[in-house]
Amino acid sequence: MTFYRQQYRAPDFLCQKIELEINLDKKSTLVRNRMYFYPNPNSTQRAEEIVLNGEDISLEALRVNGKIIKSFSLQNNELRIKSASKLFLDPFQIEILSRCHPEQNSSLKGLYVSNNLMVTQCEAEGFRKITFSIDRPDIMSVFTVKLIALKKDYPILLSNGNLIDEENLANKMHSATWHDPFPKPSYLFALVAGNLACNEKEIICSNGEKKLLQVWADKGNIKKTTFCLDTLENAIHWDESRFGLKLDLDRFMIVAVDDFNMGAMENKGLNIFNSSAIYTDQNLSLDQDYVYTERIVGHEYFHNWTGNRVSCRDWFQLTLKEGLTVFRDQEFSSDRLSKQSGKDVRRINFVNSLRSSQFSEDAGPMAHPIRPDSYEAIDNFYTSTVYSKGAEVVRMIHTILGEDKFKHGMDLYFKRHDGCAVTCDDFVGAMQDASQIDLSQFMLWYSTPGTPILSIQENFDSKKNIYSLTLIQSNKLNHVSKKPDLHIPVKIKFISPNLKKPVCQNGISFNKEYILNITKKKTKIEFQQINAKPILSINRGFSAPIIIEYEQTQKDLLEQLAYEDDTFNTWDIIQRTYCLIILNKQKFGKKFLAILKKILLREDLDVGFRSTLFNLPTESFLAQKFDEYDPEALLKNIHFYKKQLAQLFELEWLKLFDAMNDGKKYDLTPDQINRRALKNKCLDMLLWCDIDQYEHLAIKQYFSADNMNDRWFALCPLVLQSSKNFEGVLDDFYHQYKNIDMLIDKWFSVQATQLPKGPDYIDQIKKLQAHPDFNIKNPNRANSLLSSFSYINTFAFHNLNGSGYQFWAKSVLTLDKINPQGASFLAKRGLDSGHWDKLHKQCFYNHIDELFKNKNMSKNLLEIVRLIQNIKRKNSL
Ligand SMILES: [Zn+2]
Repeated sequence: MTFYRQQYRAPDFLCQKIELEINLDKKSTLVRNRMYFYPNPNSTQRAEEIVLNGEDISLEALRVNGKIIKSFSLQNNELRIKSASKLFLDPFQIEILSRCHPEQNSSLKGLYVSNNLMVTQCEAEGFRKITFSIDRPDIMSVFTVKLIALKKDYPILLSNGNLIDEENLANKMHSATWHDPFPKPSYLFALVAGNLACNEKEIICSNGEKKLLQVWADKGNIKKTTFCLDTLENAIHWDESRFGLKLDLDRFMIVAVDDFNMGAMENKGLNIFNSSAIYTDQNLSLDQDYVYTERIVGHEYFHNWTGNRVSCRDWFQLTLKEGLTVFRDQEFSSDRLSKQSGKDVRRINFVNSLRSSQFSEDAGPMAHPIRPDSYEAIDNFYTSTVYSKGAEVVRMIHTILGEDKFKHGMDLYFKRHDGCAVTCDDFVGAMQDASQIDLSQFMLWYSTPGTPILSIQENFDSKKNIYSLTLIQSNKLNHVSKKPDLHIPVKIKFISPNLKKPVCQNGISFNKEYILNITKKKTKIEFQQINAKPILSINRGFSAPIIIEYEQTQKDLLEQLAYEDDTFNTWDIIQRTYCLIILNKQKFGKKFLAILKKILLREDLDVGFRSTLFNLPTESFLAQKFDEYDPEALLKNIHFYKKQLAQLFELEWLKLFDAMNDGKKYDLTPDQINRRALKNKCLDMLLWCDIDQYEHLAIKQYFSADNMNDRWFALCPLVLQSSKNFEGVLDDFYHQYKNIDMLIDKWFSVQATQLPKGPDYIDQIKKLQAHPDFNIKNPNRANSLLSSFSYINTFAFHNLNGSGYQFWAKSVLTLDKINPQGASFLAKRGLDSGHWDKLHKQCFYNHIDELFKNKNMSKNLLEIVRLIQNIKRKNSL
């Protein structure tokens, strides 16, 4: 069944409050649910029946206003209750007794068991697996929740809001009652029950109020939650100072759970996290893990306002909360760094991942606007488009308005909509009204799929001394639909190094950055009496998520590089030079190499920036330049150039590797993190240069490092290229860390991405799958093998004997029986197939028949498999 955004209808009934009493038992949990409904004054019709959602739960008793009711039907996960006479015209109460079975629930939605914990995950539609309700985000109710369980097994009982009562009961049972004063949609409900330890602190907010912050985890891991707790405090202070948004509850809790499909979930006052996202310490975490933890802890906390206090009217509006909150977590992450150069490098990393994953999604069969128009399973639309492109759209509003007006817009948004479930139009409307800047054309970003292209044409007439710049916007997905043009804010600067006198024409001064608001298909800027062609620095800081088409030779790019003063653009020009060389199989020009060397060795430059310079463009970024491409050939080509760089700068790598190895004690300052990054880049390049000659450096670092980051980046290149002695190192890693789940996940993933040595490589993967530590039911473990193999190990996955494809299809189906959400994520790999060359496409479709023949798959998976079938049809295979 397909759902359409245009078909939205206000609910017939609203629910003022929900009282739950939950008798927790992992085999069979009894839920008493009392809901206080009233007719929606904004509903257009008088409803004769009320429809409640319920999935995989059994109904035990049903009362309306205290009376047992018989006139109901229960079919297709819908409980329909007919109104007797005028029952539903006034406020009424429905009480339902139902049962669910946490231990049997492997979907990780609703109420389920993770190790010895009972936990919930309700976004998007998991609440209906716990009890019957109108399970949609525009019904916001005040929840009171009484949890009852055996005290010995479940000494800690947590839910949303504030703890109002605790009791010891007969039969060694006990109860805890929680009340959340803020109305919320059912997807934000949560409970956790189990034996947990707590890491807590009290903080004082700017208005003097005391708040209790708690991180809950199992006893063995509680020490690894201190960074998380500190980050939570930082996030709270940041949101107060940057946006004036205060923590509204007396206590705020985070719980670590081992089996969790996503990174984390923002349930009101009770965030639930995948434990891998919050456990950090020196002997466990990579430097990048800390950045991730900081962002995700910030992200879930920031949802407290952008998502929870103001929620989404329907799931099509998902980007309303996600785009805005990703923007906020990126800003938080950047504001934590004091140096501008550090912030610039972070921006480069965000953009690099956007251009690799979101741009390719936006060019493939899953392309959708940040606010989709239709879906079958909403779980499939938690995409990088909704999240990352959504954040870029909010960032553009910030660029157009500026910080002050953007903040006024945020203030107005909360003033108007606090406690409501609203739409993206409401958000942009508040921004527009607060700033008095017309955003009506900008709104088209919410309905336009595909990455916009901006083509650049420059002309300099040296006789007439006229320079003109023409910018033309287009969108590959718009040819047919002829959508109107977008409003694109582009930061631009005309750099004129040989300026004889200051130039200011058409309100534009040279050598000064300004924002060009492009609103038409064609924009032309002309300057007269110019004695030399200026250098064009465009889309500075990646101000708009677009593709710039700018025909430049290696020589042009290098000339631009000499004068470019924007850090992002400097990095991007180097990336564009790499693209040009790799795609046209050119040689590295001498001048280019000289510039690279100069930047690499420049001690006054940010060390983090220097270490990003030699990251060649990713496969998926390069693939976007082709209609069809041979994945194996492309990666071989990238490796060829990487090896060349490795060999050309061998002496520099050696020199810098020593220089960065300063023997200082491990710490987490940006300076130390950057030095480690550059050091490990050098090590990686040395191993690419000559694995036999330099293996000993990596082995030495692995055994002598005092932190996991250095140990890991010594191990990875050894395994990836199967160095002579990699097996000993890998075994050591396993034996040292076999009791630490997060590290064993890494152990699986590094082997799943190893470059294959022969056609039987798949047997190695199957051997790992049969390893006693492999557990397909745990999403982190399943991903560490199956996703790493399918998404990262290009040569093995695409092997033309078909074994990789076949393995993938089988894995998707196996996973679907256990965890449909995980299965459809893995299945999305097949959506790229339309983009592969004929040989790989053919081979792929020859080996995945099993997937097409299966009649018994989840709706999550079915939606993706249909898209894959469409590709097959389109390619007449
Ligand atoms: Zn989120």
